[in-house]
Amino acid sequence: MGNLNKEMWVENRVREDQIKKYLRPDGSDFINDKQIETELNNGSNPDNKYIRDIISKSLAIETLTPEETAALLNVEDPEMWKEMEVAAGQIKRKVYDNRIVTFAPLYLSTACVNNCLYCGLRTDNNAVRRGVLSVEEVKREIEVLAGTIGHKRLIIVYGEHPESDVDYMANTMEAIYNVKASVKGGETSIRRVNVNAAPLSTEDLKRLNQIGIGTYQVFQETYHHNTYNVVHPPSTIKGNFRWRLYCMHRALEAGIDDVGIGALFGLYDWKFEVMGLLHHAIELEEKFGIGPHTISFPRLEPAENTPFTLNSKYQVSDEDFRKIVTVLRLAVPYTGMILTARENSKMRRSLIPYGITQTDASSKIGLGAYNSYEGSNQQADRQQFILGDTRSLDEVVRELAQMGHITSFCTAGYRCGRTGQCIMDLLRTGAEGKFCKLNAVITYREWLDDFASDTTKEIGEKIITKEIEEIREKMPAIFDDFMNYYTKTAEGQRDLYF
Ligand code: SF4
Repeated sequence: MGNLNKEMWVENRVREDQIKKYLRPDGSDFINDKQIETELNNGSNPDNKYIRDIISKSLAIETLTPEETAALLNVEDPEMWKEMEVAAGQIKRKVYDNRIVTFAPLYLSTACVNNCLYCGLRTDNNAVRRGVLSVEEVKREIEVLAGTIGHKRLIIVYGEHPESDVDYMANTMEAIYNVKASVKGGETSIRRVNVNAAPLSTEDLKRLNQIGIGTYQVFQETYHHNTYNVVHPPSTIKGNFRWRLYCMHRALEAGIDDVGIGALFGLYDWKFEVMGLLHHAIELEEKFGIGPHTISFPRLEPAENTPFTLNSKYQVSDEDFRKIVTVLRLAVPYTGMILTARENSKMRRSLIPYGITQTDASSKIGLGAYNSYEGSNQQADRQQFILGDTRSLDEVVRELAQMGHITSFCTAGYRCGRTGQCIMDLLRTGAEGKFCKLNAVITYREWLDDFASDTTKEIGEKIITKEIEEIREKMPAIFDDFMNYYTKTAEGQRDLYF
C-alpha cells in the first residue's frame, strides 16, 4: 500500500458521528477529570466503620459508587488493607470459586500507524522488526498453541494498520477457528478467540461479531485527558481520546456483549486510573445494563528503544499494584480480572488469591514466535515489550493446582449464550459458578490427559478428585449428568460442555 493510500486510510478511521451520539447533552464525555480529583480528595481519611460498610456492599456483589471507591483508595491503615485483601479473596471465591481461566496471547501483526510514546511498536521506532502474519503463518502458530501446548482460548492482538484492517481480522479469526490440530490420535482446536485491537466502527464490529469474536478488548491506556494527549500524539488515530473511550459503546451496540476494558498503569496516577476504570464500568452498566466482562491492569514494562517505559514518574510499585488489584476486585465485584505474564512469577503467585480470574501461560509475544523460536527466549526487537514470566502452561497449571486452583479451559459461555446480560445476572447471583465448575472439571480432565506432564497430572488428579466430591455434595441434581460427560471425556470424547 502506498503512502497516499495509507494516509487516506488513517484519515477515514475515526467516525465522529459514532462518537457524538454518545456524548452528554453539554458535549462532554463520561470521564470528568475534575470530578474524579474531587472524589479522590473527598475520600481522604475514611474511618474504618465506613470502609467495613463498603466491604459489605462489595461482598453482596454490588458495584461501588465513585465515592466509596475513592474512600477505599485512600485507606492508610495497613491493617485495614489486610481486611480489604481478605474480602477481595472472598469475593473472588464467591463469584468465580477456585477457577482460573487460562489463555495465550498471539500477535498477528506488529505494523502500527500510531506513535504511542510507551510502546515498542510505535511507528517511529526503527529498532523493531515488524510484519503481518499470512493466513498460513497464523495456522502454523495455532498448530503449536492448540496442538502442542493445549490452549483452547486466545487473545489475538493486531496493530492498527491498513494491512491488518477488518478484512484481515475477519480472515485470520476464521482461519484460527478452522484449524484442527492433531493430538494423541484425535483433534483439538482453539474454541474462543478474544480480540485486542484498535477501536473499530460499529459496522466493523458487527462483522467480527458474526465470525464469533469472544471478548473485544480495548484499553483506554490512561483515563486522564491531558496525559492521554501527551502520550498519544494528536496527529495519530489513537490521539482521539473519545474514539477510544466509546469503542465499547459501539461494540455493545454491534451485539458484542463481552467487552474488556483496561488501563496501562504507569502513565498517570494509579488512583486516578482506578477511578477511570470504575466510571467506565458504571457508564456501561447504566447505558447497556452490562458492565465489563473483564478488567485488565497492565503495568508499563520495558520495551526496545523505548526510554519512556523506564522514565515515567508514575511507575507503580509492587505495593501499590497490590492495592490496585484489591480495590478493583471490591469496586466491580462481578467482573473478570486479568493478570498477565507482564508480571513476574512471584508477583503473579502473590496476587492470584486476591481476585484474579484469568491469566496467560506459555506466552510469547514476538511475531510468529510460537512456531519459529524455541523455549522461552524473548526477542526484544520483535516484541511490543518484555514479558516478566515465560513459564510454560504445564508449569503454571501445576503451580495453580498446588495453590488449590483448578485451571479452566472452558469456552462454553459464549457458545451457549451465557454472555452479556445473562452472564452478568449469573455472576451477580453466583449461579454462573455452577456451570463453570462442571465445565472446568471436564476441560481440566481433557487437558490433563492430552497435554500434562506426569508431575502436573499427578497433582491435577488430586484437584479433580476433590472437585468431583464437591459437585456430588453441592449439585446432587446434576451429578449423574456431569459424571456421564466426565466419563466420556476420560474415555477420549472431546469438547463436551454444559
Ligand atoms: Fe500501536 Fe498499540 Fe503500540 Fe500504540 S500501543 S503504537 S496503537 S501497537
